[in-house]
Amino acid sequence: MKLSKTNFLICLDCAKNAWLKIHKPEVYKKEGLSSFELNIVDTGNQIDELARGLFPKGVLVESRDDTELTKKLMEEKTPVIYQPVFATEKFLAVSDIFVFNSDTNVYDLYEVKSSTVSEENGGRKTEDYLIDMTFQKNVLDDLGIKVGTLNLIRLNKKYVRLGEINLKELFFIEDLTNQVNEKLEDVRNKMEGAFELLSSEAEPKGHCDCILKGKNSHCTTAWYSNSDLPEYSVHSISRINKKKLAELVDSRIFNIHDVPDDFPLSDNQKRQVETAKSGKEYIDRDGVSEFLQKIKYPISFLDYETYPSALPRYDRYSPYQQIPFQFSLHVIDSHESELEHYDFIYTGNDRPDEFFAEALKKHLPENGTVVVWNQKFEQGINKQLGERLSEYKDFMQGVNNRVVDLMVPFFGKTTMYDHPEFKGSASIKYVLPVLVPHLSYKNLHIKEGGTASDTWNRIVSDEYSEDEKNMKVQALKDYCHLDTLAMVEIWKVLKNV
Ligand code: SF4
Repeated sequence: MKLSKTNFLICLDCAKNAWLKIHKPEVYKKEGLSSFELNIVDTGNQIDELARGLFPKGVLVESRDDTELTKKLMEEKTPVIYQPVFATEKFLAVSDIFVFNSDTNVYDLYEVKSSTVSEENGGRKTEDYLIDMTFQKNVLDDLGIKVGTLNLIRLNKKYVRLGEINLKELFFIEDLTNQVNEKLEDVRNKMEGAFELLSSEAEPKGHCDCILKGKNSHCTTAWYSNSDLPEYSVHSISRINKKKLAELVDSRIFNIHDVPDDFPLSDNQKRQVETAKSGKEYIDRDGVSEFLQKIKYPISFLDYETYPSALPRYDRYSPYQQIPFQFSLHVIDSHESELEHYDFIYTGNDRPDEFFAEALKKHLPENGTVVVWNQKFEQGINKQLGERLSEYKDFMQGVNNRVVDLMVPFFGKTTMYDHPEFKGSASIKYVLPVLVPHLSYKNLHIKEGGTASDTWNRIVSDEYSEDEKNMKVQALKDYCHLDTLAMVEIWKVLKNV
């Protein structure tokens, strides 16, 4: 086995997962990548290819094990090489861009990452990227290949597109040579340790490290390494910290029903555990009644679907800014009125903003409450729309001023309604099937937001035939329609409470 850079980084994140990826791929791949995760991979490749535009006319080493071609191109001092491959007996590294520097007579290395960075606040994961580049440097040193500078290329968070994309402004290049050289020995030790562990056939036994972490940290192979965990385990206790989890795990208390009554928990956690144990719903009727009074007719139940494009696709967009492409709106004018529904979806080639804002202004009642689920999201989109479209700035601010978040009665410290089947989650995907059993996402073609985003992106990227496109557009409408209908029905249940 040769330890690749990718598997080394997975191993640093979680040794058990890396071992499963290499020795039990059927377990590692069992759940497969979601369409949204596939989209992240596509985005990474897209950014890699675009960044090559900073050093045009390079030669691409197609195959990820073609060390011979790499060697030949370097001997010929080829000005720019994309995806050069380096392998020693133990390690395999594929770099993104090598640029020959005629001043120093060696190649400079450029590593491309699809995350963002800003001059002021730096970037996330810088430490991971440093380790990534140090792995490469160690392999090059093992092969006796001298390189000049080691540079990290990331998306400039502050970049705002106007007209054609300006690569030099879109990408931010940092020379991290010194930082890499300082890490060589430390990463070398980690590489040797990972190689030892991962080339061993002996499977790391017992629970994996996430036995001491909350459910949100668990990866797609957690089911395999912690097969004795019950469906509703102590790992689902909302915001449980490592110390408390360790106490429960050390006492081999895995099932939330087995948590001792006097175990120290926050009020919110205590309520969740008691609800689970009692098997009965918890309802704070006064709280619910007070909350419902904030909701005034005409009531608009509103939900947006967006796509976070790494590359700013339209004018006045920055990297990863959400593109609002769809909304669903259910309206109840008064106590006696029928439910009305309006929807909007844009699949053209222009910037959706203007069409989105115009349709929203046309259908959204000028007064009354705007009900959403997780207000930070819709309000954030409205603010950005107002910033890009000055003619809609006041309208968007007006909408945000009327927002009430229907997630509040089900969320954290503000919980007024809890149920054992919510399993500690305030996601509408957990609340709906319990409060409104006749409505479900199960039979929909699109069941969650990530797939909705990815589907829209593939529609506007012409990845579908006309028939497929029409089917996908209908699936997007059905999904977003249920998001707002679900809020209507949940509001009715709260009213009946
Ligand atoms: S659940 Fe956590 S510790 Fe276990 S394999 Fe996954 S990432 Fe690793």
